Amino acid sequence: MPQVSFEFFPPKNEQQTASFEQARDRLSELNPEYMSVTFGAGGSTRERTRETVLAIQRETTVQAAPHISCMSESIGSINDLLDAYREHDIRRLVVLRGDKPSGGGSGVFDYAADLVRHIRKHYGDQFKIDVGCYPEYHPEARTAEADLQHFKQKVDAGADCAITQYFFNADAYEKFLEDCARLDVRIPIVPGIMPITNYSRLARFSKMCGADMPMWIFKRVRDWENKEDFESIRKFGEDVVTGLCRQLLELGAPALHFYTLNRSQASLRICGNLNLGHSK
Ligand code: FAD
Repeated sequence: MPQVSFEFFPPKNEQQTASFEQARDRLSELNPEYMSVTFGAGGSTRERTRETVLAIQRETTVQAAPHISCMSESIGSINDLLDAYREHDIRRLVVLRGDKPSGGGSGVFDYAADLVRHIRKHYGDQFKIDVGCYPEYHPEARTAEADLQHFKQKVDAGADCAITQYFFNADAYEKFLEDCARLDVRIPIVPGIMPITNYSRLARFSKMCGADMPMWIFKRVRDWENKEDFESIRKFGEDVVTGLCRQLLELGAPALHFYTLNRSQASLRICGNLNLGHSK
């Protein structure tokens, strides 16, 4: 049965902590392969990412996987973080270049492939490494083919698995798998799944990360949000994303990675519709 994994962001106040903990505990009952925690733009949540990952490790039986990006002060601070993870028996990382801080700036390394190489050189195989990939191509890539080649560089540097940016068009995933096979990229490519629950947030995210939001989805969700008909958005979003997941599994997706935004309901319903995950 395909595995599932869930992604969270580190909460920053009491209210967010309560909602994170509720989502974490509900989703852990599906017995996911792992739960990951994002690393804020520009490395802004370094400490909170670590605390959130350790809380998952402490409070659940699910493997916790921190995201780590090149946006750190120094190589020393990256190594300190990796040492701390290793000491706490964290064995899986999602390795990224990272979003740049809003005021600009750059990271310790220019690209995620450099950080993957660094980790393999200094930590060998102590961590399983996931990286990001982009079936609709990364917005900064010069050309689509260059982006594919850059993805291959991360795999050649030692990535074990990849998680895609979210998308709503299964053809993009199918084509991406074909391109990966052409380039002899053989690692599992796990689709990143974004539940549809809210128009404004999704429109903002999609613009930021270059994900294509099909017009038929966009307009329906916008109209319902204008009428504050959130139940119709919820039902429509659940149907659309369940259908997308079914198509992706038929195309051979080895697992599904849910961007939960620290909420459990949509991911639980979609997994339930697909019979994915199981109670312990
Ligand atoms: P890279 O693989 O380094 O690619 C970045 C860009 O540089 C691409 O356009 C690529 O084509 C280009 N490139 C790569 N190598 C070269 C080269 N040698 N020469 C020229 N161009 C090159 N961001 C966060 O800040 N925190 C998170 O926790 C986080 N989690 C994420 C999780 C997933 C699953 C995904 C898909 C993305 C996540 N992001 C996160 C967003 C990610 O950091 C951004 O998309 C970022 O802009 C690119 O990261 P990357 O690791 O894919 O970069």
